[in-house]
Amino acid sequence: MPIDPTAPYDPDNIFARILRGEIPCKKVYEDEYALAFHDINPQAPLHVLVIPKGPYVSWEDFSAQASDADIVGFVRAVGQVARDAGLVEPGYRLLANVGQHGHQEVAHLHVHIFGGRQFGAMLPR
Ligand code: AMP
Repeated sequence: MPIDPTAPYDPDNIFARILRGEIPCKKVYEDEYALAFHDINPQAPLHVLVIPKGPYVSWEDFSAQASDADIVGFVRAVGQVARDAGLVEPGYRLLANVGQHGHQEVAHLHVHIFGGRQFGAMLPR
């Protein structure tokens, strides 16, 4: 069920609980601004989620409310995770779902990194 990207932040969402260490994740990267871990239901040979450490519901919330430092830190972390995974040369795909049409299901901003195969044209028609 897609979440409302304009709703107040829910501190009990699953990624908030991962950030607090209440539930486990397969961590691949962490710094002051971001945490990255393997998606529990991978859609590609490599499928990693990168989340900001701050309480942002969605890209909408983050792009409007986050400090410049949080935005820079998060964007750099996404690039670093892809670089560390060796994805730069073969290439990769980034995805951030927002709201009903985007079908965002977890109410904490996350960027999907997909790699390890050819993804072809942008979206199914
Ligand atoms: P989205 O539709 O963009 O909100 O995607 C949410 C993603 O979170 C899906 O790809 C899920 O497989 C993934 N996910 C949900 N719970 C977990 C979890 N506990 N650990 C890792 N990934 C998760």
